[in-house]
Amino acid sequence: MNFRDIPGQEEVKSALTNAVKLNHLAHALLIRSDDGGAGLPLAISFANFMLCPNRTEKDACGECDTCSKTKKFIHPDFHFVLPYKSLSDKDEDQGKAEMMAQWRSLISENFYPTLRNWASHAEIESKQISISVKESRRILYNVALKPFEAEKKIIFIWLPELLGNEAANALLKVLEEPNQRTQFLLIAHDYEKILPTILSRTQLVSVRRFTDDEISSTLMKDFGADLEKTEQIARLAEGNMNAARELVHGMPDNNLALFQNWFRLCYGQKMVDLVFLSEEFQNMGKEPQKNLLQFGLSMLRESLIYNYGKPEQIRLTVEEKSFMANFSKVIQANKVDRISQWINESYYQIERNVNPKMVFLDLSIQISKIIKA
Ligand SMILES: [Zn+2]
Repeated sequence: MNFRDIPGQEEVKSALTNAVKLNHLAHALLIRSDDGGAGLPLAISFANFMLCPNRTEKDACGECDTCSKTKKFIHPDFHFVLPYKSLSDKDEDQGKAEMMAQWRSLISENFYPTLRNWASHAEIESKQISISVKESRRILYNVALKPFEAEKKIIFIWLPELLGNEAANALLKVLEEPNQRTQFLLIAHDYEKILPTILSRTQLVSVRRFTDDEISSTLMKDFGADLEKTEQIARLAEGNMNAARELVHGMPDNNLALFQNWFRLCYGQKMVDLVFLSEEFQNMGKEPQKNLLQFGLSMLRESLIYNYGKPEQIRLTVEEKSFMANFSKVIQANKVDRISQWINESYYQIERNVNPKMVFLDLSIQISKIIKA
């Protein structure tokens, strides 16, 4: 993975590469981004950039021997510290090897994994996952070694918020005594949970969320999805590339048509039709059901902007805009809130596997009542 594989984020890319060029790089960087943000791929790309002997001003070459090792995550100077289950002394080496194999396979599918993705991919129960004291001690050991091939070793710590007190204390020792041959890259999603002692010894790099355009163009490139669909997804994902990738798979192509028909029936209080429609929703399956509800929430939000916001804030496709012209007249602001609450409640019921037909029918009745009130 290299900088050129990540859409946008030019400000962070050039800040990092310039720091190397000007020899201003802090020995420990804390790269902070939200779940599904660009922090992790930026950090990996930056490590590859630092290690590549043929790098250009802006990126690793992607072709040399070193790049072929970093691409496979087997470069001897690139050390990964990841949250994982605790390993006994006996099976530690094998456990680490399995961990790296799982990490490679996860990253090869998804540049933007969350902790939840990692835990389920590596089959670890989320409450058992942490960065252990043993891992911290291993860092001390690695830091003491000379680099094998590169000028610097990279110690890459994903999710330092999962360092326990004892593990953090062990790590502090090396963060306090910088050495020229080691570069620390810490990548955090849950910044508030990081211990202040760690924060005070690292330099913060904040990474913004992705824009709708960046998400939309990535989905078109990676999944061949069409523009209309990717624009809808980008709006629902709110800057989270991981959520956007999940939505691509579960998103019905005709969310707008489904939603439009559903609301028309609610508005007309066509109860018999709504019973049939609830059956239809039931047959769609869980992810599309959740997506339809999320789509409904986003249309309600947009209706407020349509009625009260500035025209340039509206994030709708051409088709959605023409629907919104009528929808926003029927659904006034005081109704948006109440309908949104019911949709949220239904979303949680669907997640908890309550019978979808009953959930949708109940929701339809509530929406009809609120519209007519
Ligand atoms: Zn290279």
